[in-house]
Amino acid sequence: MSEIMNVANIFGENVFNDSVMQERLPKKVYKELKRTIQEGKELEPSIADVVAHEMKEWAIEKGATHYSHWFQPLTGATAEKHDAFISAPKSDGKVLMEFSGKALIKGESDASSFPSGGLRATFEARGYTAWDCTSPAFIKKDATGEGAILYIPTAFCSYTGEALDQKTPLLRSMEAINKQTLRLIRLFGNTTAQKVTPSVGAEQEYFLVDREKYLKRKDLVFTGRTLFGAMPPKGQELDDHYFGAIRERIALFMKDVNEELWKLGVSAKTQHNEAAPAQHELAPIYAQCNVAVDHNQLVMETLKQVAYRHNLHCLLHEKPFAGVNGSGKHNNWSLTTDDGVNLLDPGKTPHENIQFLLILACVLRAVDRHAELLRESAADVGNDHRLGANEAPPAIISVYLGAQLEDVLSQLISTGSATHSIKRERLETGVNTLPDFAKDATDRNRTAPLAFTGNKFEFRMVGSRDSVAASTIVLNTIVAESFADACDYLEAQEDFSMGVHDLIKKYASEHQRIVFSGNGYSKEWVKEAERRGLPNIATMVEAIPYLVTDKTVELFERFGVFTRAELESRAEIQYETYAKVINIESRSMIDIASKHIIPAVIKYITSLATSINQVKEACDVVDVSVQTELLQESSNLLADTRKALKELIELTEQASSMKRGKEQAEFYQKEVVPVMQALRTAVDKLEMIVNKEMWPMPSYGDLLFEV
Ligand code: ADP
Ligand code: MG
Repeated sequence: MSEIMNVANIFGENVFNDSVMQERLPKKVYKELKRTIQEGKELEPSIADVVAHEMKEWAIEKGATHYSHWFQPLTGATAEKHDAFISAPKSDGKVLMEFSGKALIKGESDASSFPSGGLRATFEARGYTAWDCTSPAFIKKDATGEGAILYIPTAFCSYTGEALDQKTPLLRSMEAINKQTLRLIRLFGNTTAQKVTPSVGAEQEYFLVDREKYLKRKDLVFTGRTLFGAMPPKGQELDDHYFGAIRERIALFMKDVNEELWKLGVSAKTQHNEAAPAQHELAPIYAQCNVAVDHNQLVMETLKQVAYRHNLHCLLHEKPFAGVNGSGKHNNWSLTTDDGVNLLDPGKTPHENIQFLLILACVLRAVDRHAELLRESAADVGNDHRLGANEAPPAIISVYLGAQLEDVLSQLISTGSATHSIKRERLETGVNTLPDFAKDATDRNRTAPLAFTGNKFEFRMVGSRDSVAASTIVLNTIVAESFADACDYLEAQEDFSMGVHDLIKKYASEHQRIVFSGNGYSKEWVKEAERRGLPNIATMVEAIPYLVTDKTVELFERFGVFTRAELESRAEIQYETYAKVINIESRSMIDIASKHIIPAVIKYITSLATSINQVKEACDVVDVSVQTELLQESSNLLADTRKALKELIELTEQASSMKRGKEQAEFYQKEVVPVMQALRTAVDKLEMIVNKEMWPMPSYGDLLFEV
């Protein structure tokens, strides 16, 4: 019989968390470290030495031989370099296990191979990693499953201090919103809170496919998505997978994922089947945003690793399959004080909660002012297939508030004050044995990019493979700006109550256009949004310029989150990433079409022609019109395929010889992508004709329904 898992016992067992620190560190050292963590004070070298020593002892007991500064460069993935704990051999040839405070706090890394967008030339290769002590260190098994490594979450900067990663600006944005929110709540008489932190809960969607089949799909192997593939007879139209019973193979996988994550201190909580066949979701309990960002990276890595052990493959791409839903990541965002108050909680009677109403009005203003930037934060090559299609939120940013808050806002706007809140109703089931529930005050609207869901905002645009850092940085900073502007105004008012009242009304009226509760997927909304003057940015390449507008630069520089140079470098990196990804996709298509599909179709056509001849030879009055028709049809499609292929080869060559940057990215988007589509269209039609045994790769049906 298998052992029964006790979650409470294993939770966090591989994390150097508060209880381990308390147990292992001398009291004074523990206190100093806590102060550093809580107040952001610098850590004394002598203290760091003691912490490093204890961390090393703990790690060695758990089987670790190496440590690694773990960071998030702008590749979307995490990076690590392992260093053994050993010292230089002594004269007797023996080594000691060593780990200094200096090695804990600061690492040096050859940064030249990570994207820097022109911030750093290759000859200035020095990059530094700096310990983010607010996100705990942890131990993970290495790829062999036998060794273990101590991971230290770090931020990654260039020699001159520019951010080369996701974490540095995230930490900066946390400082900005902390400062401005404290200012705001002080005005409302809060004297106790010392710190305000954004909390994030990142829901993660993913697909699981059988590994053997995956390996036969070179498009999945090279690009993470299918570049060809006719629709199977069944898709997701019956909605029978969504929230359906989880099958054994998947359940075993999820069990292992949970166990691994719990050991790493990631509070994996919810799991269910998603809308598309073979699609699933995992959500952890929310955490402080930098920890949540790290944890989401661990979730993605763990899904991949555990899938491998189960002979499955986890697809994190935003759109692995055309024709069924893609995958996203919901960023649930709220603001929490260190005395435990969620500032986005409206309470039972929001109309009386003036502080909440001001915060809400500020969020609306922030989102309306910087809608383009928020949209950009979710821009990702794979996400172009989702946003604006009929599944994910549309590419137009809007906010869903729900009936209760919308009502309060409209009272405020029309009469200048809100006097009542729509009550939560009882949900009557009509069955005596079922209890009646109090309904939530807000229903859900799955089509809104940003939805208020009770006590948090849920930003639904992020791509499944993307880090949640970018959107969190934007949310933190744009809200910090509106708080700062509100405080500037309120601190100068003699009558605070009047001032708040006026400001809520002003912000709510000026930015009401961003609030929308209808169907965000509808064509009418596109027109209505245009009438309201809301931006509709369909693609990544169109979104990137909003990273470097004067408005954006001013915003980020005001709060010390990004410099202009850092933003420009990020825009460069994004153009390059777009070009590189499409280049890989198009070259993969060229490879697969030339070496696998065209030969298979020729084989099919030849065998068809041969069999027509044979039939005719056997009996020349037999009707071979069906065979002849198929021969004609497949030959025509083969010609279309070849034509599109040749065109794609030429365009891809032309594109890849262009100078890197905006123009190149635009060329890929406008010239290369449509021809990729044309090639796919012809090939997918052929897949519907050619014998299954002759088709060179597993079909959508094989991949999606035979996991
Ligand atoms: P919903 O049903 O609205 O999606 P859930 O309770 O399932 O909400 O939560 C979805 C995600 O939001 C989870 O990761 C959860 O931990 C997170 N979450 C819940 N409350 C908050 C909050 N106050 N701040 C940030 N995230 C939160
Ligand atoms: Mg949700």
